[in-house]
Amino acid sequence: EKTQVVIIGAGVSGLTLATFLQKSGVACVIVERRNRAYIEMRQRAGVVEARGVHMFERWGLADKLLGGPVAQTIDYRVNGVGRVFEIVGDDRIQGRFCTQQMLVNNLLKELIDGMSGDVRFEVTDVQIKNEEGVQPEVTYRYADSEHVLVCDYIVGCDGDRGVSRASIPEGILTKYSHEFGYAWLAALVEAPVTGHPIMGVSDHGCVAQLPRGPHRSRYYLQCALSDGAQDWPDDRLWNEIRLRLQDETIQNVKVHDKFFVPLRSVVYAPMQYRHLYLAGDAAHLVPPASAKGMNLALFDVDILAQGLLQALQHNDHTALLNYSDTCLPHIWKYQEFAVWMTDMMHDAGDPTQHGTFYQMIARARLDNLFSSPIAAHQHSEYQRGML
Ligand code: FAD
Repeated sequence: EKTQVVIIGAGVSGLTLATFLQKSGVACVIVERRNRAYIEMRQRAGVVEARGVHMFERWGLADKLLGGPVAQTIDYRVNGVGRVFEIVGDDRIQGRFCTQQMLVNNLLKELIDGMSGDVRFEVTDVQIKNEEGVQPEVTYRYADSEHVLVCDYIVGCDGDRGVSRASIPEGILTKYSHEFGYAWLAALVEAPVTGHPIMGVSDHGCVAQLPRGPHRSRYYLQCALSDGAQDWPDDRLWNEIRLRLQDETIQNVKVHDKFFVPLRSVVYAPMQYRHLYLAGDAAHLVPPASAKGMNLALFDVDILAQGLLQALQHNDHTALLNYSDTCLPHIWKYQEFAVWMTDMMHDAGDPTQHGTFYQMIARARLDNLFSSPIAAHQHSEYQRGML
């Protein structure tokens, strides 16, 4: 069977790329190991930043896929004492509320139900044939039979543990990585954020509460790498939230899910090898304190979609050859922001992290956002998303 582009993975990056390609008349197939219902349920990010909004506007999809404008404030709390940071700058450059789950669901509807896009769920044993001068192939198994897709390009949108990056021979990619030495417990709860999104630091560790729809929010709690979700029964979770926010009025409510994320930053470069291109978490990870992982994935697929269209429809391969070099400077800027934000949030509260000296440095960084218009501007630029 022949197609032009095979995309591995129907997460936010694979679905966005396929929607752009399908809309532009390029034949593509997504192969995904999970079923549709599983993908529809997965919930992580909450905001599409300004750059992503502009991208969807350019592709004529913003109003179909995204929600309304997001809060332009962040309540930074230190041991329960809050200061509200107002995001400054051009109000037209604004993110839009859209949980990852809502975006993925809207993309699935647009791609499969609206444009008859070809997404093959529940495939197993995906393998990549990516040799010099030979037409690439992706093989997979579905219901005990083997299938072969012959194509022009393969895109790996299969996350950090997928097959795409693993198919690249050793010595081609450089891995740059940093382990932060602690983890976050992420808990989706049946209570909205009342007031402003909260980023809290305390002597007991970092805590954040971010909106995830009109009735829900997600709490993030710093915890030890040696912990797991099973070490955090609901009572411990709520006691720790009350302690870290110094707020005894917070009630225990229903917890929908809990998962455990070791905090790390990773970049693989280059993001391409022969006919294979990597996008999203397959190419890089940022700690969730920055709220940039999904947004970086959207950036990649925007650049890649334009490159693929130039190559397939105009026989111009320049943008595709430059894909990695175009994406990496942007990725590194966001990595820098993610490290700044993660260090600032954790060291500002927890003296056991890097000692009391770094705790004071981190508090000075946080203070600076409220006293220096230049620092406030730069922080706002990252929070809104760089165009
Ligand atoms: P994924 O969404 O992981 O999709 C990969 C897909 O590939 C999956 O469907 C998987 O089933 C499939 N797959 C894997 N292996 C195979 C295989 N062998 N064969 C076929 N299919 C395969 N980002 C933000 O921007 N803002 C936030 O606030 C934010 N919060 C986060 C909170 C948490 C707790 C976490 C964990 C992440 C958060 N992120 C956030 C990051 C964001 O969720 C990811 O960066 C984003 O999901 C990356 O999208 P992706 O399409 O590259 O990968």
